[in-house]
Amino acid sequence: MIKFLDIQGINNSFEPEITQALLRVFKSGWYLLGDEVKTFEKAYGDFIGNRHCIGVANGLDALRLIFKAYIELGFMKEGDEIIVPANTYIASMLAITDNRLKPVLVEPDINTYNIDPKLIAEKITERTRGIMIVHLYGQNAMHPEIQHLVEKYDLKLVEDNAQAQGCYFGKKRTGSIGHAAGHSFYPGKNLGALGDAGAVTTDNDQLAELIRALGNYGSRKKYVNEYQGLNSRLDEMHAAVLKVKLKRLDEDNQRRREIAEFYCDHIKNEKIILPIHQPPSAIRSSSSHIWHLFVVRSRERDKLQKRLTEHGVQTLIHYPIPPHKQLAYSDWNAISLPITEKIHSEVISLPISPILTKDELYKITETVNAFK
Ligand SMILES: *Cc1c(COP(=O)(O)O)cnc(C)c1O
Repeated sequence: MIKFLDIQGINNSFEPEITQALLRVFKSGWYLLGDEVKTFEKAYGDFIGNRHCIGVANGLDALRLIFKAYIELGFMKEGDEIIVPANTYIASMLAITDNRLKPVLVEPDINTYNIDPKLIAEKITERTRGIMIVHLYGQNAMHPEIQHLVEKYDLKLVEDNAQAQGCYFGKKRTGSIGHAAGHSFYPGKNLGALGDAGAVTTDNDQLAELIRALGNYGSRKKYVNEYQGLNSRLDEMHAAVLKVKLKRLDEDNQRRREIAEFYCDHIKNEKIILPIHQPPSAIRSSSSHIWHLFVVRSRERDKLQKRLTEHGVQTLIHYPIPPHKQLAYSDWNAISLPITEKIHSEVISLPISPILTKDELYKITETVNAFK
C-alpha cells in the first residue's frame, strides 16, 4: 500500500542525526527553556526572515498567543472582528474565538482555494482589527490588495503559516510578510517534530517579548506572574529534532515541487481538476507553493477515493466539513458559503512527500488516470 504520508520513512531519512540529537538532549538532563530551543529559535527566525522566533507547544497556541498579546497590548478587545478565510482548517478560527474575538468569514478564490482578496474590503467594519491569512496547502495567500487594506484601515496582519514553511511571497518567506505569524511543527507538516510543536515569528520586539511571557505562565521572572498566561513552550527534544530537519527543508520542498509538476503534467482525466498552475511546468521554478498537500477536485470525489483505496493508494480529504458547518460553530451552520462548501465536497489529497518514489508516483498517476 502507498501511504498518504510515510512519516516514519521521512524521519528515518534523517538518521543517524535525529537519534544523536535525541540522545544529546536526554543526556544533558535539561528538557525545557534551554540551548536547544534557543538555537532552534535563532535558526528558524533566520530561515523565515524575522528577528524574533518564540517556540511554543503547537500551531494553534502560536496563533492563540498572537491574539492574546494584541489584547494585552490594547490593539484588540472582546468582540472585535478578525477577517479569516472560510476555507481553512478549524484551528485558524479557534485561535480567534478562544480570545473572544469575532471571526468574519470570507470566501476563497476557487482557483487558489485561498481567501479571495477581492471579497475582503466589503467585510471591513468599524470593529475590524485584523486580517488572518492562511497559506493553505502550502500556497502563498498574500496579495497586494490585502497589503493595501491592512495599511488603509491600520489592521494587524496575522499569518497562519502552519502549512507553508519555506514558501515565498516575492523575496520574502511567508511567515515574515505580516505583523506576526503562527507556525506548526505537527509531525505531518513539511517541517515536523516528533509530536506537537509550534512557533511564533515577528519583527516586533514588544510583541515578541510579551508572547514569550504569555506562553510561560504570564511570567518574565520565575514565580512573578504579570498576566493570566498559559503554559505553551517548545520542548528541548523537539527543538533538537527540528534543527536537524530544518537544514533540509528547502531541498525537501523542491522535491515536492518536482512531484507536483509530474502530477500536473501527467494526470489526464476529465473528471479531475488539477491545481491551477499555468503552465504546469512552471511549478518547479515557482517558490510561492511548497506543496504541503497536493489537492485535486472531482465531482465524484468519494468514488475516486474508494477506487484509489482499492488499488492500494491511500488518500485524505482536507477537509471534509468546513468550519461553519461544524457543531462547534453551530451559530454559523445556517450560513451559506457556496464556494467553501463546493471545495469541501470535491477535494481529495494525493500522496506527496520528499521520499515518495518514482514507482509510487507512476502508480498513483496511472490509477488516477484509469478512473472512469
Ligand atoms: C496544522 C494547522 C494548524 C494547527 O497546528 P497544530 O500544531 O496542529 O496546533 C493551524 N492552522 C492550519 C492551517 C494547520 O494546517
